[in-house]
Amino acid sequence: MKADLHTHSNKSDGTDTPTELVHKAAALGLDMVALADHDSYAGLDEAAAAADIAGIGFLPSIEISCRYAGADVHLLGYRAGPDDDLDMELAKARQSRVERLPEMLRRLADAGMPITAEEVHRWARTSAAQGRPHVADAMVARGYVENRDQAFGDWLGDGRPGYVPRYTIDLSRAIRLVVQAGGRPVIAHPWARRTAAVLTPQVLGRLAESGLVGIEVDHPEHDREARIALRGLAGELGLLVTGSSDYHGLGKTNNALGCETTHPEVVEVLAQPLRGSR
Ligand code: AMP
Ligand code: ZN
Ligand code: FE
Ligand code: FE
Repeated sequence: MKADLHTHSNKSDGTDTPTELVHKAAALGLDMVALADHDSYAGLDEAAAAADIAGIGFLPSIEISCRYAGADVHLLGYRAGPDDDLDMELAKARQSRVERLPEMLRRLADAGMPITAEEVHRWARTSAAQGRPHVADAMVARGYVENRDQAFGDWLGDGRPGYVPRYTIDLSRAIRLVVQAGGRPVIAHPWARRTAAVLTPQVLGRLAESGLVGIEVDHPEHDREARIALRGLAGELGLLVTGSSDYHGLGKTNNALGCETTHPEVVEVLAQPLRGSR
């Protein structure tokens, strides 16, 4: 049993349609795939239908952009929603992505890289969560940068000249809301990028006590040492260990579909409906 439990479609910032994504997963011989688009459920119905036809398992999920101690932390919610409180937070997050766009474009123009909102919308056409990745795509199309990575590294990332903060949900509240929505909260790539400094073992311990059920350990952005340490920590704290690619189609290199997988026993727990909503 091979399961990749964290992927993105073009309903957020991946480049495959949900159907294409599921077909690729089936062609690779995966038995189960989870779609976890950023702050949106928009691709889930299509992906579930495609998985049904393709004969592979499907786990509905979502990746919620959260904030903890000033750092961006991503929370996966397996089988979460719909829930009024959670949905309101997600809508707020999506809205604030759109609202900060003019300021972001003003800053890029000041830096000699004019881009119109039209151009960004063209790249975000299919997405329910238009954001920095689509601004990055427009920058690539203009020839300002080589790829999304360079756009984030030089201009759009936290603290770079084009960075404009947006609304993000408090992590502890998001964990509570995922549980309230009948889902299972798992922290995505806890020690990738800038999050290792804030998600200390003590903090993860507190989150485990307040409803967190797992951490994503096998992720392309975690090196060997981080994986060993996180695995040990998960054992101590009674947290589930997941492994996933964080596949984004052409939107991210180094994240090939199925390159990381989750142990079947963990898949079974996460796939179990809590109250049969989805
Ligand atoms: P936003 O939600 O609009 O602030 O954009 C953040 C999203 O951009 C994250 O959730 C990631 O999926 C994506 N992202 C962050 N850094 C990079 C990067 N270096 N290359 C490609 N995508 C990235
Ligand atoms: Zn993404
Ligand atoms: Fe993420
Ligand atoms: Fe992701």
